[in-house]
Amino acid sequence: MDTADFSLRHIGPREAQQQAMLKTIGVDSLEQLIYETVPDDIRLKKDLDLDEPMSEQDYLLHISKLSKKNKVFSTYIGLGYHPTILPAVIQRNVLENPGWYTAYTPYQAEIAQGRLEALLNFQTMITDLTGMELANASLLDESTAAAEAMGLLYAVRDREQKKNKINKFFVSEAILPQTLSVLKTRANPLDIELVVGNEADFDFSENFFGAILQYPGKHGQVTNIKPFIEKANAANIKVAVSADIMSLIKLEAPGKFGADVVVGTTQRFGVPMGYGGPHAAFFATKDAYKRDLPGRIIGVTKDANGNRALRMALQTREQHIKRDKATSNICTAQVLLAVMASMYAVYHGPDGLRHIANKIHNKTAALSKALSKLGYEQSNTSFFDTLQLKANAKAIKVAAESKKVNFYYPSEDTVVLSLNETTNLKDLNRIISIFAGVAQKDSFKISEVSEANAIDQNLQRQTDFLTGPVFNTYHSETQLMRYIKRLERKDLALNHSMIPLGSCTMKLNAAAEMLPLSWFQWGSIHPYVPVEQAKGYHKVLRKLEDQLTEITGFAGTSLQPNSGAQGEFAGLMVIKAYHESRDDHHRNICIIPSSAHGTNPASAVMAGMKVVVTKSSDDGNIDVEDLREKAEMHKDNLSALMITYPSTHGVYESAIKEITQIIHDNGGQVYMDGANMNAQVGLTNPGNIGADVCHLNLHKTFAIPHGGGGPGVGPICVAKQLVPFLPSNPLIKTGGDNAITAISAAPFGSSLVCLISYGYIKMLGARGLKRSTEVAILNANYIKKRLQGAFETLYSGERGRAAHEMIIDCRPFKAHGIEVVDIAKRLMDYGFHSPTVSFPVAGTMMIEPTESEDQAEMDRFCDAMISIKKEIETLSKEDDNNKLKNAPHTLDMITSDDWQLPYSRQEAAFPLEFVKENKFWPSVRRVDDAYGDRNLVCTCAPIEAYMEEA
Ligand SMILES: *Cc1c(COP(=O)(O)O)cnc(C)c1O
Repeated sequence: MDTADFSLRHIGPREAQQQAMLKTIGVDSLEQLIYETVPDDIRLKKDLDLDEPMSEQDYLLHISKLSKKNKVFSTYIGLGYHPTILPAVIQRNVLENPGWYTAYTPYQAEIAQGRLEALLNFQTMITDLTGMELANASLLDESTAAAEAMGLLYAVRDREQKKNKINKFFVSEAILPQTLSVLKTRANPLDIELVVGNEADFDFSENFFGAILQYPGKHGQVTNIKPFIEKANAANIKVAVSADIMSLIKLEAPGKFGADVVVGTTQRFGVPMGYGGPHAAFFATKDAYKRDLPGRIIGVTKDANGNRALRMALQTREQHIKRDKATSNICTAQVLLAVMASMYAVYHGPDGLRHIANKIHNKTAALSKALSKLGYEQSNTSFFDTLQLKANAKAIKVAAESKKVNFYYPSEDTVVLSLNETTNLKDLNRIISIFAGVAQKDSFKISEVSEANAIDQNLQRQTDFLTGPVFNTYHSETQLMRYIKRLERKDLALNHSMIPLGSCTMKLNAAAEMLPLSWFQWGSIHPYVPVEQAKGYHKVLRKLEDQLTEITGFAGTSLQPNSGAQGEFAGLMVIKAYHESRDDHHRNICIIPSSAHGTNPASAVMAGMKVVVTKSSDDGNIDVEDLREKAEMHKDNLSALMITYPSTHGVYESAIKEITQIIHDNGGQVYMDGANMNAQVGLTNPGNIGADVCHLNLHKTFAIPHGGGGPGVGPICVAKQLVPFLPSNPLIKTGGDNAITAISAAPFGSSLVCLISYGYIKMLGARGLKRSTEVAILNANYIKKRLQGAFETLYSGERGRAAHEMIIDCRPFKAHGIEVVDIAKRLMDYGFHSPTVSFPVAGTMMIEPTESEDQAEMDRFCDAMISIKKEIETLSKEDDNNKLKNAPHTLDMITSDDWQLPYSRQEAAFPLEFVKENKFWPSVRRVDDAYGDRNLVCTCAPIEAYMEEA
């Protein structure tokens, strides 16, 4: 064994295991299996053209060298991104801890109470600081959150407004430039008309459905938003506020003034800038709009014993149910980053946060005085952390960069600078000396900063925040370390056992891929620094783009979309721009198979398209004749087909080339949902099957960890004709020559975690990537074979093989009174996370082992499944007091002095021998979803509630 070969670490089964598994399946070789699985006419004829694979050791040296090409300056650019201090205890125990970063989205609440609690803390922090009733547990970035706010306000227009087609939305000119760009992208397909202006001149008698303000404004002025909101409310114009989280500690909460939505980012609560992301955005609103709130809400409910338990609330709003009626396509969010930001608030507590905000504010006020003394005009009359100076921008820039300092230069005679948590006296004096030098005056030094108050009287915060015990307890490192551990222990992640989630590809997230994320040369780069300071990033990002372009067989890639669903929207907008460039403005029909993921129709609607659903035949394939009929019927208006390949049914449809040809013949473009790319890499690719654009979920196929529900990266790769339209950014050049406006806030999306996928490809190389795909297929077919007889696999390819995942039918167990969720919950007693439940077929499970799981782990999983099947067989429909209905069993139940159940404690908690070795205890009994939705509580109680109880 070559110990330097990373593929041997990434891929689970050893050679001998692979041989044994092939034998079980009944094929002679891996080549034979792949031959029987992947249709011949779509196989690649040659290997991918990628660099030779690197060992982990070499890779870490390489990425360390590249990191030094990034120049870390003192950066005061602001615009929604600030240097921050990530407390080491959070870095080590959350960011660098697979117990947190390898967890899946908390669909299985009983084994996810830890991150659900951290997310409830996040929501509490947000509702307190914004003064709103309800907050979600994270959106992708501030700009897309602002766009979601616009979408929500549009969706909740009253009947009169809808009837009169009121479509005007006011955008304050103080909005961040990237937010304006994203708003434009999102407004256009919905026929929303954006009106940008100064809110002081706004005419409230005009017909607008909503408005958005920036608080403080992009250049730091804190305008009094209160009169605007009051007048807008009176005129039935709903108001969203895009707010800076740190300033809200000192500024009165917009909710107190009557805002309808408050959005922003929590980046500066301890999350590194990472050249633009990932960071958790927030979205807070009124209870009245809870059914339209995008993203995920964590809510309090009770378990089967009546004990308090948490789970994702109001899941009925999800795109899976709403499909083309959905108003948002958010699926993956930013859970890991939300957890980090919430822990920052838990660690510092309200007093610590006040201290930090005061420190920033006092220094800003002191700097304002000092610069005025030097003769500079500072034009913000009310400010928190940002100064706006009249100065020769060019001269200041030269002087500043020679001292390794970055400011923001919005015009030739304006310099804007934002201070932050890391700014110290030395930094202040360096700034003063830069300005003094340009003014040709003697510099002087500040040796002490006094209390100051430069905020408008009307806007100073009166409302208390974070009064609950969780924010007032864990302020020493020992306390916080144990709190984080206590939560971690409640959660099942990949460091406990396999998470066989169909469609979500929960593979290894290698430590060597993760290590560089903690390095300051990667973390401390602001997305708007001059590109010469980010050369390390540009090398990595460009190379990653090239690698993905090669892997997909396309001509260009944009890394900007920060989730798969964002990629879908981006890809469709690019298709739309392409059609429009050919004067095909009318092409707006998007054909989507009934088996598609719910984000597909949701994204199509957001892109202004009309969804036409095409059927699947009984064998699970697209009904080609139905598709042809629909494509021909709509040929004058056909825009696109969205298709997942291999299909969500887990098969490589052999008609795929015919399908893409039909669409092209009728004037459409083919969008391939790349969530199943783990079944293609190195064997075939989207370009080869005739697609024009695809997104990739780097957090599935390319090893970015799921983070408990995010971060994600959803780049789009496109064919030649679509390259010119790849998305841009208003401040940093990126995208095509004829680029659409921004899809997300940062020019290259969540750059920091792109390092993971870059490392993954670098260390595996063409051979390792292809091998990974092959072993993913081998593993899936091994499970299929092992479960044969106990469970029926719903669909297979022409030669009877599964792709990299398979669907097993659980509907026959209804005869025994058992639903698919009962199996999901019972698996917890065996120490496993359930496969995907009821997608894409209700009453089924979708199993995807990935290449990283070895035979022994898959055997344990299959043994558990077969054992559960045997348990089911003994049950009758009338009996609802059984091991499956009562699952999962908690330690509390098992050790109770009063055990009344008709089976033994051993059978309940240790149903198979191997469980004893590695028992995982669900921390609550089965949660009651419906109760929580009827009694929606989405924050942790303030301390008074606990006092009352006592
Ligand atoms: C995961 C997934 C998506 C959505 O991707 P996100 O990154 O969660 O936004 C879309 N389609 C399919 C088939 C998926 O599995």
